[in-house]
Amino acid sequence: MSVERTFSAIKPDAVAAGQAGEILAMIQKAGFRILAMRMLRLTDSEARGFYAVHRVRPFFEGLVKFMTEGPIIVMALERENAIGALREVMGATDPAKAAEGTIRKRFASNIERNCIHGSDAPATAQTELQFFFSAADLL
Ligand code: UDP
Ligand code: MG
Repeated sequence: MSVERTFSAIKPDAVAAGQAGEILAMIQKAGFRILAMRMLRLTDSEARGFYAVHRVRPFFEGLVKFMTEGPIIVMALERENAIGALREVMGATDPAKAAEGTIRKRFASNIERNCIHGSDAPATAQTELQFFFSAADLL
């Protein structure tokens, strides 16, 4: 295993509910270093671009509406095995199936409004980091 980078975003539901601090604390307690972080509100076209891989799925329009309803907090994270480790700390996409102690078990409302995003593979981590951060942010 080696030090790896991944992309994460605290979604609009959790930012609006004031849960960002507790989610960040769980991420940091799990051993991640925050390399870069900022708050922004996605435009409709940015949300469509970010989730382009899901554009033919039945939940796509709802997902775009949700992800643009308010600000999100985007982060570049670093840790050994960061991509897999973050997915573990997040828990399953559907909070009803998420393990005890995971972020989604604790804060997600349902399979759509599930409080956090994390990249699922090295190639997507790279693409998603570059979507939000410049090379100079990630030194
Ligand atoms: N999503 C949804 N309905 C579904 C599956 C996913 O609304 O049946 C939303 C949910 O917000 C999820 C996002 O679409 O986090 C991306 O889906 P993916 O399968 O990539 O899940 P993730 O990687 O976020 O666990
Ligand atoms: Mg995904």
